[in-house]
Amino acid sequence: VPAFDVQAVRRDFPILAERVNGRQLVWFDNAATTQKPTCVIDRLSEFYRHENSNIHRAAHTLAARATDAYEHARDTVRDFLGAASLEEIVFVRGATEGINLVARTWGVANIREGDEILVSHLEHHANIVPWQQLAAEKGARLRVIPVDDTGQVRLEEYLKLLGPRTKIVAVTQVSNALGTVVPVREIVAAAHGVGAVALVDGAQSVSHMRVNVQEIGADFFVFSGHKVFGPTGIGAVYIRRALAETLPPWQGGGNMIADVTFERTLYQPPPARFEAGTGNIADAAGLAAALGYVQRIGLDAIGAYEHALLDYATGQLAAVPGVRLVGTAAHKASVLSFVLEGFEPLEVGRALDREGIAVRAGHHCAQPILRRFGLEATVRPSLAFYNTRDEVDLFVSAVARLAATRPTRAS
Ligand code: PMP
Repeated sequence: VPAFDVQAVRRDFPILAERVNGRQLVWFDNAATTQKPTCVIDRLSEFYRHENSNIHRAAHTLAARATDAYEHARDTVRDFLGAASLEEIVFVRGATEGINLVARTWGVANIREGDEILVSHLEHHANIVPWQQLAAEKGARLRVIPVDDTGQVRLEEYLKLLGPRTKIVAVTQVSNALGTVVPVREIVAAAHGVGAVALVDGAQSVSHMRVNVQEIGADFFVFSGHKVFGPTGIGAVYIRRALAETLPPWQGGGNMIADVTFERTLYQPPPARFEAGTGNIADAAGLAAALGYVQRIGLDAIGAYEHALLDYATGQLAAVPGVRLVGTAAHKASVLSFVLEGFEPLEVGRALDREGIAVRAGHHCAQPILRRFGLEATVRPSLAFYNTRDEVDLFVSAVARLAATRPTRAS
């Protein structure tokens, strides 16, 4: 039994009443981006109506309001992630920029020729490409933690890969392509055991489960606001304090300096050191509204509701003739990836769209893991806490009707 009223929650998201191709929208593309509750939409409007100013620099009332909004947002993110201090929270555009920041600061300062960077086979391109670029520059080696046939990381193989050359382990907490929930706490602990640091990509986890960066033990943790019911263009990277203080800046410009002459620049301490230029102030305020909303409902209640919904959807979909589920790990969140015999994933996506059902069809920016299963693309419905069993039924019956039109081969 859900601890919240899903119909009441749905009324908080105006777009869920939208009609698409004559049907009420079914939004099953939550892993790509989530929809926004009224409180987030209103927060953006309120900021631009009453608080808009640049921050930190000016001595006037609106600058103080905007600064308060931005720093309140930082504290909301800190609390949401269970981080100890405000200095550990750096605003960025999203998970991608957060990982690039870590590669360009920690990575450039610490990776040497012959070092090893470990990622899992599940990673999104955002957690592969920046490390590949860094490895190429430094003469380091990118190594891959394999997965088993269910799409779960093989911990015993991971432990064998760890060694004195391992400098960083970067893993996702939830796979965007398969939905696998990865045991990041164990992975981080083992990385620390060989003196490496660890980055956790929380892009797909923070909207589905309670996260605490101190419990996980991560040195770096990234997420995107738009995947947790907040605006696009804002996200955060958590950098453990002791590490942050040792890191060189990333981009140079205003805000991040303590003093500039033509001969040299003195930098601010974290987090300002990593925030050159005018930040995304309004969207930070919108993100705080989104996180506050999620916290009021409660991530434990959200997780329990979604888990039951995902189990139900998995059973129903697996029963459709011709459906092959991809990613069957025991521990999963939100995502159902599948292919339908006789149809390209894109055909399935388009057929569903004709019925108002939005799913992603493609490689999900995670080509290596799909190829691990012999595929170039899948159909990927992904659930959020505002989705319902009725929507799952509509979706499954649409897939079943499409499957029934498969041309039968002459025998
Ligand atoms: N990591 C994972 C696991 C993701 O799912 C995504 C988004 N699909 C990203 C990173 C990148 O997020 P963004 O595009 O918001 O930077």
